[in-house]
Amino acid sequence: MREDKPMHFDLSGRTALVTGASSGLGEHFARVLAKAGAEVTLAARRLDALKENVDAIAGEGGKAKAVELDVTDEASVAKIFANGPFDIVVNNAGVTLTHPAIKVEEAEWDKVVDTNLKGAFLVAQAAAKAMKEAERGGSIVNIASILGLRVAGGVMPYSVSKAGLIQMTKAMALEWARYGIRVNALCPGYIETPLNADFFASEAGKALIKRIPQRRLGQNADLDGALLLLSSDAGAYMTGSELVVDGGHLVSSL
Ligand code: NAD
Repeated sequence: MREDKPMHFDLSGRTALVTGASSGLGEHFARVLAKAGAEVTLAARRLDALKENVDAIAGEGGKAKAVELDVTDEASVAKIFANGPFDIVVNNAGVTLTHPAIKVEEAEWDKVVDTNLKGAFLVAQAAAKAMKEAERGGSIVNIASILGLRVAGGVMPYSVSKAGLIQMTKAMALEWARYGIRVNALCPGYIETPLNADFFASEAGKALIKRIPQRRLGQNADLDGALLLLSSDAGAYMTGSELVVDGGHLVSSL
């Protein structure tokens, strides 16, 4: 039996990488990890888009820096890990596309699947290689979606990519537990962001909100507990899990 240790969310002394940190959830996740004490590296395709977020974290007393990263490009991913491992890696970069399945073109499929699935694979594998080599384990958090567990109209490639990401999480968790690496999927429901604000103000958007048992959209902060649980020692015995944060959307009545 292992000795009982106190569980805590403190990330002081830990390093974290957040992909797609120039906007939306990624920007928020970087701030949350920095507030918990981690030294955070924010990554996105354009460095200039990250400067404001790095400055905001520094302004709140946190430690942050920015790096350029295209998750679909293996060489770009390799550069990020050239100086060693991160303790926490949040695979957040993602794209979506709203198009009926019958009209989806090959290039559209490739863009969504290459970013959400292949990109997450490249980052997670490079992260795990660096962790294994340094013999210090770590936590990989894959940002999936409830659309990886159920389907909705008009988002077929996205749903497929997120379902693949959840299964990839489990396969990696199985193989990498022996190196002390935990891999978990965080599956948000619909979170209110500037990008979807117009849709949720529409009649179709309001009807969707009525189908969520809690009758509201998620806010960024609703994900903080799950993110910190999976990133910190509080989740030390969790690997291969799919953690749903959706106001009950997945259990809506049939
Ligand atoms: P967003 O568009 O604001 O953020 C996505 C980020 O990924 C952007 O910063 C974008 O520049 C970056 N990105 C895209 N392609 C990239 C690439 N090739 N390399 C590096 N960065 C790249 O969207 P968001 O709502 O903040 O979504 C963040 C993640 O959360 C995504 O994986 C998304 O699927 C997931 N998610 C979002 C919601 C929601 O309701 N907002 C719900 C469930 C899951």
